[in-house]
Amino acid sequence: MLLRERKNGETMGDHFQRIVDVEVGGEEAGPLAERMVDWMTAEGLLTRERSSDGVYSPTVDEGYVPGQAWGQAVDDAWGQDWIPGPVAVVVGRDHHVGGQGTDEAEYADCPRCGTRTVVIDYPEQFEADPEVWERFENGIAAWKATGEGDAPCTACGALVPVTEWQWESGFALGALAFDFWGWPPLSPDFLQSFARRLGHRTAEHSGKF
Ligand SMILES: [Zn+2]
Repeated sequence: MLLRERKNGETMGDHFQRIVDVEVGGEEAGPLAERMVDWMTAEGLLTRERSSDGVYSPTVDEGYVPGQAWGQAVDDAWGQDWIPGPVAVVVGRDHHVGGQGTDEAEYADCPRCGTRTVVIDYPEQFEADPEVWERFENGIAAWKATGEGDAPCTACGALVPVTEWQWESGFALGALAFDFWGWPPLSPDFLQSFARRLGHRTAEHSGKF
């Protein structure tokens, strides 16, 4: 296992940054993933070589090894001694959570009426209200299985697709995600051109395995 250390000694080997495409459809996700990898290998950010070293993505156990120009994706101050880990490409409709998040969203805002449905009532509660979450959970399960799923808003009565609910920032639904394992913070420029190439809205998460 490669040792990845910051100068202050903090190890980042099990740290990830994730970019989730929250708009791409299930059928389009695979071809889009290939185009993104083509682009990143052409830029020298990644190689075609794959490794499982330091990859802890939930459903994918290997990623693309960084290329010589990987430093172009991060701010100048990084690089030199740093050895980032592979980039795992996760294709398939799934929910994504940042940090050491739970599998439930803390809350969701209705895009029709703006009312917030609280699922985990911090700081009173630290677990999801099962009855509240069940409505979302069923819709998300249907979306994963078929590409379509709804959850009702109890405030306005609308049946809203789960992909349109505005989730708290640590929770995202998407059919394509990129996990950068052990990379220094990706630069705003890189994140912008990455999203432009995807052509879709994105959510960004980070956390530790
Ligand atoms: Zn509503």
